Amino acid sequence: MAVSGSEKDIMILMIEDDLTLCELVGSFLEKKGYDFAHHNSYEGAIECARRVKPDLIIMDLHFPDGNGLHLCKLMKDDKDLTGIPILVLTTRDYPVEKEIALSSGVTDFFHKPMDYGLFADKIDEILGDSIEIIFWGVRGSTPCPGEEYTKYGGNSTCLQILIPGQKKLLILDAGSGIRALGNELLASGKPLNGRIFFTHAHWDHIQGFPFFKPLYVPDSRFDIHMPPQMEGNTKEVLLDQMSYTYFPVTSQMLQAKLEYHVQSHAQQQYEGYSIQYMSANHPVETAIYKITIGKKTIVFCPDNELSMANVDSNGEGDPFLRQFDEFVKDADVLIHDAQYDREEYEKKRNWGHSAWEVVVETAKKNNIRHVFLTHFDPDSTDEKLDQISEKLKEMVKDLGIHAELAKEGSHFKVPA
Ligand SMILES: [Zn+2]
Ligand SMILES: [Zn+2]
Repeated sequence: MAVSGSEKDIMILMIEDDLTLCELVGSFLEKKGYDFAHHNSYEGAIECARRVKPDLIIMDLHFPDGNGLHLCKLMKDDKDLTGIPILVLTTRDYPVEKEIALSSGVTDFFHKPMDYGLFADKIDEILGDSIEIIFWGVRGSTPCPGEEYTKYGGNSTCLQILIPGQKKLLILDAGSGIRALGNELLASGKPLNGRIFFTHAHWDHIQGFPFFKPLYVPDSRFDIHMPPQMEGNTKEVLLDQMSYTYFPVTSQMLQAKLEYHVQSHAQQQYEGYSIQYMSANHPVETAIYKITIGKKTIVFCPDNELSMANVDSNGEGDPFLRQFDEFVKDADVLIHDAQYDREEYEKKRNWGHSAWEVVVETAKKNNIRHVFLTHFDPDSTDEKLDQISEKLKEMVKDLGIHAELAKEGSHFKVPA
């Protein structure tokens, strides 16, 4: 392995047995301001990538000592490497091969012989793509239509995360906000394939599910994940709301291919990201999901009570809060329950929700860069949330973190 350094703070690793090509590409990229490292065999490539922690991997698919596609797959399934974009240099152009490569974790292809102008554009295109978060619903407890709710939005919780180079959808919770997401997806005309992670099965997080139109399209495929619940497995919990008494469309009418999973706490690898959860301080088993995409970490926690109510006997503070701090520490983005302000919270202790002030303090303590407050109380109109937003601006001025109230329909690009 050889490493060289430059000013952009973006590391590109080339895995390629042709040393001359490595040198040419390396000197080109260094002139462009990238850090560059190369490794010249299949053997040891994974270990090298773990050490170098690249932002992009450029590689060949043919090595004298191993198969490059196999290497891509190993990286995709590796918790430290999953999500790092892989650009393959190739002289071949067979659609079937490309299809297999894309499903093995390859992000894109570049055709040899090298045209360095086009090559620079391709690298900009891949690295320029950042992770994007879309808020489809930010309301807690129940959807709130009406003119007092047009600015922040009245739909209940639903979040989408877009991962560069990944076609498979990543959706969290299916409150009423998921309906608009479904409509947008159908309008795109693309085949729909993805995962929906539920934090828990309170109505405001599942009630949009029967209105998510991609579920009625035969070519769609979704994996549905939920932490274990007391009464019934993931499928039962979710589809019971579609029983005949409650809903005219029965679950037999869902035409998409659906697979149901009971999510465990342990970190799991999926397409371009890993996810793990800790249990929230909330009435039923509720997940606080931590999603890791390359070097970025996003924590999604729409229902959780951060309280100082339960100080343990050793006087060492609340064990839940200690665990929470450890879990969220250094996250790039925290999306957290902020149903109340401090005053309102005092009347609603042990209801399973937090005061926004405590969320911001906790985020600061844990070195979190970007905080989005969500799951607003149905009684929090635009006017009230605007007042909170002003107080929040005052509060974060000196804290050196970015915190804002999530708004339905807004997008946030996680900075590189
Ligand atoms: Zn909720
Ligand atoms: Zn809840």
